[in-house]
Amino acid sequence: MPILEKTELFVRSIGEATDVVEKEMYTFADKGIAMRPEATASVLRAFIEHGLHVRQPVQRLYTIGPMFRHERPQKGRLRQFHQLDAEIIGAAEPRVDAELIAMGQMLLDELGLNVSLELNSLGCPVCRPPFKERLIAFLEQRAEALCDDCKRRARTNPLRVLDCKTPSCRAVVREAPSLLEVLCADCDRHFAEVQTALAELHIPFRINRFMVRGLDYYTRTTFEFLTADLGAQAAVGAGGRYDGLIEQLGGPPLSGIGFAMGLERLALLMEQRDAGAIPAKAMDVFVAALGGATLAPAGQLVHALRRQGARAAIDYSGRGLKAQLKQADRVRARFTLIVGEDEWARGEAILRDMRTQAQQPFGLHGSPEEQALRLLDAVRPAATPCPAG
Ligand code: ATP
Ligand code: MG
Repeated sequence: MPILEKTELFVRSIGEATDVVEKEMYTFADKGIAMRPEATASVLRAFIEHGLHVRQPVQRLYTIGPMFRHERPQKGRLRQFHQLDAEIIGAAEPRVDAELIAMGQMLLDELGLNVSLELNSLGCPVCRPPFKERLIAFLEQRAEALCDDCKRRARTNPLRVLDCKTPSCRAVVREAPSLLEVLCADCDRHFAEVQTALAELHIPFRINRFMVRGLDYYTRTTFEFLTADLGAQAAVGAGGRYDGLIEQLGGPPLSGIGFAMGLERLALLMEQRDAGAIPAKAMDVFVAALGGATLAPAGQLVHALRRQGARAAIDYSGRGLKAQLKQADRVRARFTLIVGEDEWARGEAILRDMRTQAQQPFGLHGSPEEQALRLLDAVRPAATPCPAG
């Protein structure tokens, strides 16, 4: 997805009276262009433009990339950050909601992160407008207790007041009417079935009737993956259903649901979990080139190994064997090929198993490609198999 889109796309989808559009979007005022603050609008724009639904009625799509929001930078909150965005377009069944949420949960589980799931329903164009009226009436009675932002929002976008973080607003909101109590029959059934489907997949969740999300396009199911370990930056991922949005953007009347995860927040959590850096993948072979004459053939061999899909590393500094073996350990090399100048002159090297420390001679005859193939034969299956085959 491109980073620049027409400002209008975000205003029409995210909504005029949202924090993202009102305060956080970087726009080029004279050009009508904005740096994308999120991915869903761009995905739908492209989906419509290329008529993806014609090829396949239900589409499961993802994209990863930088997003831009004018914010006060702090831990886990950046002006340029990255989102992993996933969407299922063209299916409205509650099981689809559960499938998408389960995929997000699966990723978090695989990363070993302790994150809780909260769920809400925001209704639809049938049940939300009358609720909005009720909420406006309620908020008008309590206007003095609301923060300045919410005094204004109570009229323009009353649902936003429900997730205001100001303590006085929170106190008001605790007594506010709940949308969950006035969902229309269809939305009520949909929400119940999403919960059943999540339970069938053994995905634990909690209902949070105050969750409204910062984007206006959501309908029905909304959800957030929350952590207690990032201070105020509690959400690592969030999403929801947006039935009606594709049509509103000029496309066919298709439903959709999606979520976005913040990669920087995931990385912070992973760092906290491991109390340190995430180790890089282990090397299959480290080539220790000892002496100037060996650098060229050793470099060619490493290049050939990489072309074969092996993970190979080399040090060009010409340091001594001890330092290079240390470096081989640091990159967690499974094997080290020691290429000394004298051995090289005889067409030989030494292959060292870094686990057992056993050493064996390795002949350096043939082209670098032939050497690489023989070397890989010698080290496999001990070395990690290359996932690319
Ligand atoms: P928050 O309430 O923290 O501002 P949000 O509701 O604005 O989050 P979304 O629009 O739902 O966030 O974006 C989805 C995810 O993207 C968030 O859960 C978060 O992980 C990440 N994210 C959003 N804004 C930022 C940011 N400024 N810096 C880093 N990550 C972000
Ligand atoms: Mg935000």
